[in-house]
Amino acid sequence: MEPVIVLDNIPFQADIEALMKQMHVQPDTSDAEDMQKMVAEVERIARPKAMYALRFIDSKDDDGVVVEGTRFSSRVLRVNLDKAERVFLYIATCGRELDDWAHTLDDPLHQFWAEAIKIQALGAASRMLTQHLTDTYQPGKTSDMNPGSLADWPLREQRPLFRSLGDPFATIGVELTASCLMVPNKSVSGIRFPTEESFASCMLCPRPECPNRRAPHDPVLFEQKYRKQAE
Ligand code: SF4
Repeated sequence: MEPVIVLDNIPFQADIEALMKQMHVQPDTSDAEDMQKMVAEVERIARPKAMYALRFIDSKDDDGVVVEGTRFSSRVLRVNLDKAERVFLYIATCGRELDDWAHTLDDPLHQFWAEAIKIQALGAASRMLTQHLTDTYQPGKTSDMNPGSLADWPLREQRPLFRSLGDPFATIGVELTASCLMVPNKSVSGIRFPTEESFASCMLCPRPECPNRRAPHDPVLFEQKYRKQAE
């Protein structure tokens, strides 16, 4: 089994201009001053991190795949991995340090800003992970699936994913709650796989006006590509 790789020396500088724009903070105001102080503090504290493991697929059936002894149950994942032989299991996070700091803030406005800063830190970790995978493995075109993004691959599938990565809490400070949500909340986990056709879970998700949508909903895709044939 390939070792779990940890990326924990990830540079992070908050983008204050983007933050001010996003939070509607005007320059030369007391809010702008507060935000600058906050960003300076964050840059001292934040330690975004990521971990991943290269894993090989043992077997595939109609409703799931077994990856080095761990079963993942999802018809969509199974179809997406049809031609894949290896996958990357991963977790990226804004980091416990930033999350703990955000919990010390009393002002609801500052708490709101802190969540936006945590998203930026998670972005830094995710970009570093992608760059590292590209430099190390040249995986070509890839797509991702994340447990909980589709009813077909529910949140409880975080458990096998976390198990496959050993001890994510000890390694990068990410743990699962009893309902399988991640702490810190600005963390992302998933399976990245080689694919010739781009895939995003949003393509199968009908949720209207989702602010995080990354691809248009395709109302016929499930029937055309993922529906199991009747026996
Ligand atoms: S549209 Fe929104 S809710 Fe649906 S999968 Fe995409 S990000 Fe998730």
